[in-house]
Amino acid sequence: MATDVVVIGAGVMGASIAWELARRGRRVTVVDKAGGAGHGSTSASSAVVRFNFSTLAGVTAAWEAQFGWRSWPEHLGHDVGEPARFVRCGIALLDVDIMPRQAFLPLFAKVGVPFEEWSDTQLRERIPGIDVGRYWPPKRIDDEGFWRETEGTLGAVYTPDAGFVSDPQLAAQNLADAARAHGAEFRFHATVSHIERTNDRVTAVTLADGTRLPCAVVVNAAGPWSGRINELAGVGADFTVRSRPLRQEVAHMPAPPGGLGIAVADLDLGTYLRGDTGGGLLIGGTEPDCDPLQWIEDPDALTQHPTMAVFEAQVTRAARRFPELTIPNRARGVAGVYDVTDDWTPVYDRTDLDGFYVAMGTSGNQFKNAPVVGGFLAAIIEHTERGADHDERPARYVGEHTGLEIDLSAFSRKRPLTAGNSGTVLG
Ligand SMILES: Cc1cc2nc3c(=O)[nH]c(=O)nc-3n(C[C@H](O)[C@H](O)[C@H](O)COP(=O)(O)OP(=O)(O)OC[C@H]3O[C@@H](n4cnc5c(N)ncnc54)[C@H](O)[C@@H]3O)c2cc1C
Repeated sequence: MATDVVVIGAGVMGASIAWELARRGRRVTVVDKAGGAGHGSTSASSAVVRFNFSTLAGVTAAWEAQFGWRSWPEHLGHDVGEPARFVRCGIALLDVDIMPRQAFLPLFAKVGVPFEEWSDTQLRERIPGIDVGRYWPPKRIDDEGFWRETEGTLGAVYTPDAGFVSDPQLAAQNLADAARAHGAEFRFHATVSHIERTNDRVTAVTLADGTRLPCAVVVNAAGPWSGRINELAGVGADFTVRSRPLRQEVAHMPAPPGGLGIAVADLDLGTYLRGDTGGGLLIGGTEPDCDPLQWIEDPDALTQHPTMAVFEAQVTRAARRFPELTIPNRARGVAGVYDVTDDWTPVYDRTDLDGFYVAMGTSGNQFKNAPVVGGFLAAIIEHTERGADHDERPARYVGEHTGLEIDLSAFSRKRPLTAGNSGTVLG
């Protein structure tokens, strides 16, 4: 079988890349060891769409991608059956010193992201039931300081266009269906076991069942398994940015009375919260220093079930912010894996093996960018395969909706670590 491109991984990233390359006329084969699109870390995603990142490229990407989610069926350009739904609920980014307003508001202004600055009084009025106390730094719930009186109050920055995607796995499947409509082939239960090279150029991918897929280009979109795929390809030595799998839990519980209409990013207490489409509430963590990070060697060995310890910490912090929340006594939620880089910024790039590209290190914050990441990789691949040196003269991406240009060296494997990153999932 001959193909132009093999994409490894049919998560939301691999599916987006396949769709974009297929619609540009490439013959694409996607291989995934799981049974369907979006069955990897994508399936656990909270799928929050927000715009605050520490770099101009990060804010621009998220803002451009949001237009894709807002008009998802039109964006895909094909009837894909039931489409994932974007719920535009807005998000309140509570004040916190590690991500001060002045770090991202100039970027919002430059990109054109609408926002409102709220005082503590406005925050209380706009999100009924919220406690506007300032509790920094986040503490463990068994620390007696956790229940200490508030030291002042906080306000928030509100962006009305933020929201969440109703079903992240369905979004990946929609992208896969749209890619198929352009001729892409998806092979499931297909584990990559070997990557062949000849004279420093990738030439084929071999599957565990012995199938050999000759190709000119390979894209590693294997999510938390991407480090392993790089090892198979023998790339990584020139990366200045490392990535590692990190276990994460998201708690699910009933929403407070009246629901949570607006999502909340609460680095002050160490959580983020959003409602869902069925009267529930999702509560994730923002890596507060007081909590040990659960780095893992092998994403396949993930304990899928949420633990009582993490669940209790997340819901208790949420209940500090929303005192009307009743803390359930049984842990409910999901566990998933982030592929975290040293600066919580992804790597979308070529490598020192010609024809071998990566879309990895998505650091728990790139689901939102899936509508544009296919375009990023297509731009880098076309630029490089035409003979340009993306390391020296980086490819650029121009947003279809905003017309804004992104210098894709912002996501280089060889970048200096992104200055001013929050050191958390917020990027
Ligand atoms: C708990 C959690 C919450 C999150 N919340 C948000 C959020 O609110 N907002 C946001 O923007 N982002 C969020 N993210 C991040 C976002 O979901 C991920 O960045 C994104 O889904 C990664 O997609 P992917 O396609 O790169 O990886 P994956 O979905 O993991 O896909 C990789 C695929 O590669 C396949 N694979 C691996 N090894 C092989 C092999 N050897 N052979 C063949 N196939 C292989 C796997 O089976 C898998 O399907 C969250 C992530 C998690 C885990």
